[in-house]
Amino acid sequence: MEQIMSLVKERDPEQREFHQAVQEVVETVKPVLDRNMEYRQQAVLKRITEPERVIMFRVPWMDDDGQVHVNRGFRVEMNSALGPYKGGLRFHPSVNLGIIKFLAFEQVFKNSLTTLSMGGGKGGSDFNPKGKSDAEVMRFCQAFMAELYRHIGPNTDVPAGDIGVGAREIGYLFGMYKKLSNEFTGVLTGKSLNWGGSLIRPEATGYGTVYFAAEMLTTRNENFENKTCLVSGSGNVAQFTTEKILELGGKVLTISDSSGYIYDEQGIDREKLEYIQQLKNVRRGRIQEFVEKYPGAVYTAVDPALDYNPLWAHKADCAMPCATQNEINKKDSSNLIQGGVTLISEGANMPCTPEAVDILIDQGVLYAPGKAANAGGVAVSGLEMAQNSMRLSWPREEVDNRLKQIMKSIHRTCLDASSEYGMGQNYLVGANIAGFTKVVNAMLDQGLV
Ligand code: NDP
Repeated sequence: MEQIMSLVKERDPEQREFHQAVQEVVETVKPVLDRNMEYRQQAVLKRITEPERVIMFRVPWMDDDGQVHVNRGFRVEMNSALGPYKGGLRFHPSVNLGIIKFLAFEQVFKNSLTTLSMGGGKGGSDFNPKGKSDAEVMRFCQAFMAELYRHIGPNTDVPAGDIGVGAREIGYLFGMYKKLSNEFTGVLTGKSLNWGGSLIRPEATGYGTVYFAAEMLTTRNENFENKTCLVSGSGNVAQFTTEKILELGGKVLTISDSSGYIYDEQGIDREKLEYIQQLKNVRRGRIQEFVEKYPGAVYTAVDPALDYNPLWAHKADCAMPCATQNEINKKDSSNLIQGGVTLISEGANMPCTPEAVDILIDQGVLYAPGKAANAGGVAVSGLEMAQNSMRLSWPREEVDNRLKQIMKSIHRTCLDASSEYGMGQNYLVGANIAGFTKVVNAMLDQGLV
């Protein structure tokens, strides 16, 4: 295990998030390798940690004032043992190759858990959509796709959205792909409903995160009725996580963006959620504005001098981090436990640091890692691909029921894998072992490629 970590670190010393994601998987799948000598002989860890293909490219585009900008584009095609590469695109100034590789690596195991036939990939750019006009975002998306289109296809690699890439960006990207390839195919998921999108895709990640959490609560004969919840982020995943918690009778106390967070003792109800959706998706404003409309709530700006996030220090029963990686550190997880939190379901990818996860698991918190809890998004993307290839569209209830069944099945799979290896109700170990075993067996079946 140490050997593989040294190799991964030596090869790409600066890719910290990638090392973190690999370390977690490598540590938890050790008992699987111990039981199966063939895995060791076939060097499966070396193979699975090296992307099948990495594409990096220049994205030149012009702003509304005629200034030229050059961003960097990425697509990491990590593993295609289970199907075409599948995973989102992230547009955020923090994006670099290490972040895209960590996301692609996580995606491989997540997609494996969904029960659908999808390999793993991820992409994006260090472009910052914040403060850009629609025309600038369109020109950027077109320039990005002018290169990406030659590497993707409905049976090769099917990107979707992630941070900074929502319905607007998917529309511009799809338009350019269609023009360049002269084909109308299901090459992207998260499309608008009237041109190939699936019902429930926008909701899927958030709903799925809550369905998974509800399954965890059931193991303790509990449910969401009257549970108080801390949610971070205010984008796609946070919005639909909030919606589903409300539907199941819970109360959401917080919501945030990268500048600060809102604490609303009365709870964020449907009307307030609609205001947030209008504010973030249409006006593209800041969450701080919430308190102008609802003065009963309190806004706290991010304080870079603090070594913890006060959002996680409020009293609550459950926490759903839905913003970004490493947003809950060791101190935050201690605060969560002190505040009474007994369940954490990760809407975001890798939002808890490894030290934070250790504390949560040690203290018996029901902890669902992102690769299991937020797999609903990619699962419904898989259903969107299926509908596209049949040229059909399923009704809302049908997609939602399938999503529910998939989340139930992922929950069961994690529990079974964890108990098979004597780890009890450890969802982290269960998700990694189950996701890993399926991919590795497919890789071995397909030979040394
Ligand atoms: P959005 O862009 O819709 O929203 C992201 C939210 O997180 C915004 O509120 C944003 O604030 C906040 N945020 C982003 N970066 C940071 C940061 N560095 N510090 C603090 N806050 C930050 O993205 P999504 O909701 O789609 O994605 C959220 C998370 O969920 C990501 O980890 C993503 O990988 C994961 N995920 C998303 C899926 C999907 O289907 N969309 C599927 C599975 C996982 P601001 O507005 O200030 O930028």
